[in-house]
Amino acid sequence: MSTALVTGASAGLGEEFARQLAARGHDLVLVARDEARLVALSAALTAEHGVRAEVLAADLCADDGRARVEARLASTDAPIELLVNNAGVMEVGAFAAADVNKQVREVELNVVALVRLTHAALNAMSARRTGTIMNISSVAGFQPSPSAATYAATKAFVNSFTHALYEEARGEGVHVMAVCPGYTHTELHERAGLDPSSGVPELFWQSADEVVSEALRALDRRRSVSVPGAINKVIAAGSSVTPAIVSRRIAGIVVKRT
Ligand code: NAP
Repeated sequence: MSTALVTGASAGLGEEFARQLAARGHDLVLVARDEARLVALSAALTAEHGVRAEVLAADLCADDGRARVEARLASTDAPIELLVNNAGVMEVGAFAAADVNKQVREVELNVVALVRLTHAALNAMSARRTGTIMNISSVAGFQPSPSAATYAATKAFVNSFTHALYEEARGEGVHVMAVCPGYTHTELHERAGLDPSSGVPELFWQSADEVVSEALRALDRRRSVSVPGAINKVIAAGSSVTPAIVSRRIAGIVVKRT
């Protein structure tokens, strides 16, 4: 069975991608910094689904960590047929008051690592004329977001980059797609210092299971983009026809309530 490499597999959406891909019979390469969590997940996936799950502990904000994952993507032994570029971080708060080093690390992970891993995977997959790259973006990428300015900009980058590569790669036999979730119950908001139980009503939240199930159905249909959930589809459609002066004001109010 084919092998999928999932970044950010130690928690949240990445862990759920690993679980659902293992249930579909994929062998896995699990990437994140927390090696103990990856080892535990690997053992569980092998026990439950009989798949191989390699652990590749790496900090994707560091050159050496990215290089080790790029090398695994380029390897012709047990080639990677599906790359899920999922690892991401969100910083919130006014940009001027923020620690600029954290803002740069956010760009290093959400953008630089995704670009480098996509490049390594695309070359290996193009040579074989088969493969899929799934980039996890966000509905935050559809409009500027005051109080999460850098985060939303990284996701706007991922959306634009992925659409362009979809066109470039389809002649090469490689499928490139974006997944744009909205509020999802994972560790993202706690890691950003937010309390996800306050502010945004439960109606707006999805489970990681719901998001990943819909993303994999979109993958099966060879879609270029998946926006999981009815509310997020409305937000995405609305953003494309709403003037920036309105959408950025609304986005700023919503992020502040989170
Ligand atoms: P999460 O639960 O916080 O998981 C983030 C994952 O990224 C963890 O596995 C973490 O593992 C890994 N990671 C963080 N820093 C890393 C680094 N320097 N190197 C390697 N791995 C690193 O967040 P999530 O919600 O599942 O986020 C997954 C993706 O979904 C992100 O791209 C996020 O922007 C996107 N998204 C999330 C939401 C939401 O509401 N949750 C909405 C839209 C989009 P370690 O700490 O072990 O390294």
